[in-house]
Amino acid sequence: MAEETIFSKIIRKEIPSDILYQDELVTAFRDISPRAPTHVVIIPNKVIPTVNDIEEDDEVTLGRLFTVARKLAKQEGIAEDGYRLIMNCNSHGGQEVYHIHMHLLGGKPLGPLLMG
Ligand code: AMP
Repeated sequence: MAEETIFSKIIRKEIPSDILYQDELVTAFRDISPRAPTHVVIIPNKVIPTVNDIEEDDEVTLGRLFTVARKLAKQEGIAEDGYRLIMNCNSHGGQEVYHIHMHLLGGKPLGPLLMG
């Protein structure tokens, strides 16, 4: 059983967060430290610590991350100008919270993929 993080508390609404979308598979909420005008974090409700821990059985859930990203990008008004989806893995990837998540970033030109 994978260890829970603060994201499990957000899913269960045990701590405050700005949830934009939730269903039986995924939850999406605004990043507490936004790096762009729109910065949403989309996570599976199931605890999967890193991309390395994904299993074939997770494919439907992980596909849902993309359909929710597409819907939220439209809702946030950034679909036409464009946006970036990021998943960080482990220390070299810059992962801080060990519950996989997709970052949805947009609302301004984001520049080159890797900065610094
Ligand atoms: P990562 O570096 O890819 O692991 O990203 C983790 C993200 O979660 C960071 O962008 C944090 O700002 C964000 N984050 C951490 N705690 C919270 C929280 N309580 N509510 C919303 N976002 C959070």
